[in-house]
Amino acid sequence: MNCDVVVIGGGPVGLAAALYAARAGLSAVVLEPRAGAIDKACGEGLMPGGLQALTELGVDPPGHALRGIRYLARGRVAEADFTRGAGRGVRRTRLHDALSRAVEDAGVEVLPVGAEDVSQDDGVVTVRTDESGTAGPTVRAPWAIAADGLHSPTRRSLGLDRDHADGRAAEGRPLRRYGLRQHFGIRPWGDHVEVHWAPHGEAYVTPVGDELVGVAVLSRHRSSLSDSLAAFPHLRERLDGAEAVTSVRGAGPLRQRTTRRVAGRVLLAGDASGYVDALTGEGISLGLAHARAAVAAVAADDPQSYERSWRAATRRYSLLTHALVQMTRPAWGRALVVPAAASLPLVFRSAVNELARPDR
Ligand SMILES: Cc1cc2nc3c(=O)[nH]c(=O)nc-3n(C[C@H](O)[C@H](O)[C@H](O)COP(=O)(O)OP(=O)(O)OC[C@H]3O[C@@H](n4cnc5c(N)ncnc54)[C@H](O)[C@@H]3O)c2cc1C
Repeated sequence: MNCDVVVIGGGPVGLAAALYAARAGLSAVVLEPRAGAIDKACGEGLMPGGLQALTELGVDPPGHALRGIRYLARGRVAEADFTRGAGRGVRRTRLHDALSRAVEDAGVEVLPVGAEDVSQDDGVVTVRTDESGTAGPTVRAPWAIAADGLHSPTRRSLGLDRDHADGRAAEGRPLRRYGLRQHFGIRPWGDHVEVHWAPHGEAYVTPVGDELVGVAVLSRHRSSLSDSLAAFPHLRERLDGAEAVTSVRGAGPLRQRTTRRVAGRVLLAGDASGYVDALTGEGISLGLAHARAAVAAVAADDPQSYERSWRAATRRYSLLTHALVQMTRPAWGRALVVPAAASLPLVFRSAVNELARPDR
């Protein structure tokens, strides 16, 4: 099977890459082994920039409008509204449905296969595939965009994983954080993403429907969600009596680093291209920017330009998220973050809106 771009991974970034490719007049094929509406551990807060990118692609997933971000800890509250349009809390399954419909409308084929082996020569990338344990079709294309997630097998097979030792903090302890999420059938009590801060982690509350709220906990500890929630008594009170309506999903370690984003004719996008932390809820928006930039580089027959555009798109997210993760690593830093954000509302609002703004 031949096309202009083979997209490895049919998550939001892979599907968006296929849409950008179709818009650029390139034929694309998406490889995604998981069937149906794909779910994933995610806070599900689409920031205004990401929502705008989806709108420009003609994708309008249903959800709950988000007005901004609210930080809470020990009775202190800091709130920052988005200044350039609303964000939206969207169930991953709904997002997947909306993107899949757009991809189908654009005439892009999604093959129910996983990439098994990726090889390339000067002109062609060859992807051998696996279809439920047996050999699937082999796909050949001048370009591949790998958007196969946080633990990207393509990234690993191309040797683009950065030495994990580099990901350790100065004190030598590994900087590893994990995420868990579950949904509760309860009417949202606000229009902000709430971030509840506790000594060992944060709980993110995102309204995603009229009677549906997602709770994601990020922490250095790998405990169960119910144990983790014990550290958030105020949130537990809010959820008291609400039924858990999805199973718990997890992800991690969150921090993944890459040496390069381009290996010959293969370009990494989204989480596959590296990830700092879910703390600032930017993963999807950033991945959409990667998808657009990767397709632009391919369309211009200039893959190396993607390294530059990837850095430009990732820089502010990476710097701000990394700074916040580091600052809140020691107990005193965590204790200070909400009082500081409450005392410096302009600084807090600028940081939130710097992250939330469209990538242009
Ligand atoms: C706890 C948590 C909370 C988060 N909260 C937010 C938030 O509020 N807002 C936000 O924007 N982001 C958030 N994120 C980040 C967000 O979930 C990711 O950035 C986003 O899912 C990245 O999309 P992706 O398409 O790159 O990867 P994924 O969504 O992981 O998709 C990758 C796809 O590749 C497929 N795949 C894997 N291997 C292969 C293979 N060999 N061949 C073919 N396909 C393959 C997988 O099946 C999967 O469908 C959060 C993340 C976590 C962990």
